[in-house]
Amino acid sequence: MKPDALAASPVVAAAIDRTRPSAPVVELKGVTKTFSADSHTVHALGPVDLAIEAGTFVSVVGPSGCGKSTLLRLIAGLETPTQGSLLRGGAALDGPSREVGIVFQDHVLFPWATVLDNVLLPAEVMALPRGQALERARWLLELTGLKDFAGHRPHMLSGGMKQRTAFCRAMLADPKVLLLDEPFAALDALTREELSLELSRLWQDLRRTALLITHSIDEAVLLGDRLILMSQRPGRIRLDVPIDLPRPRDVNTEKHPRFIELRQMAREFLFSPASA
Ligand code: ADP
Repeated sequence: MKPDALAASPVVAAAIDRTRPSAPVVELKGVTKTFSADSHTVHALGPVDLAIEAGTFVSVVGPSGCGKSTLLRLIAGLETPTQGSLLRGGAALDGPSREVGIVFQDHVLFPWATVLDNVLLPAEVMALPRGQALERARWLLELTGLKDFAGHRPHMLSGGMKQRTAFCRAMLADPKVLLLDEPFAALDALTREELSLELSRLWQDLRRTALLITHSIDEAVLLGDRLILMSQRPGRIRLDVPIDLPRPRDVNTEKHPRFIELRQMAREFLFSPASA
């Protein structure tokens, strides 16, 4: 077979493709964001360069107001960069997409709808086939221990259960990227830790690319493959380190010498004046 013909063979092409690193799921190049209101402008973020590979869990920690949520909203397509480019799956972003699921700090569940209907909410907007969406919603509720609460209304749920419902809703369309904006911030410490470990387990099963915004260094290290520390506003990436801790992670992970080392390093970095 001639080299050209060989290259045209679908089997060879697929093999070549596998040896080629795939485009990052998310890629930011020189991204900045400035908000203008009335007579003043706020330089909220950047410039930021960031590439996130498929299946990676990225944790982002930074001081309040440094632009973390802005970064997440840009990746979600809810904001547009002032400068720079933002690619998802190698293509320029044009607004929100079903390829991205978001969980916010506030669960934003509709009080009059049942847990199941809350999870199914995006189905219509995203034109998901009803039967398929229903099957997936039930599967997600089972996965998160909410199966028996499918018919309950949000006021009958604990804070942790409400956030689990929000997680199921974010995962309904089987997004490639899951964005988590301080998802546990409104929960008590015990529930927060319980849900962090549960998220770690779920993430390992579902293997989605995830980006977590958090104020908690412990949560960031416990969950992530990669720890990103940001500067004061305008937020820039000051440190980007791999979290080389074994998985699965559990309650004992926090006793791991590497966990303690990473936590200490992050604390020193964030609280040192030089990181501003
Ligand atoms: P963080 O999530 O790190 O707390 P944010 O991304 O929410 O920070 O905000 C970064 C900065 O941008 C803050 O000073 C905030 O007031 C400002 N900001 C965020 N969104 C807007 C907006 N829509 N209009 C004007 N300013 C904004």
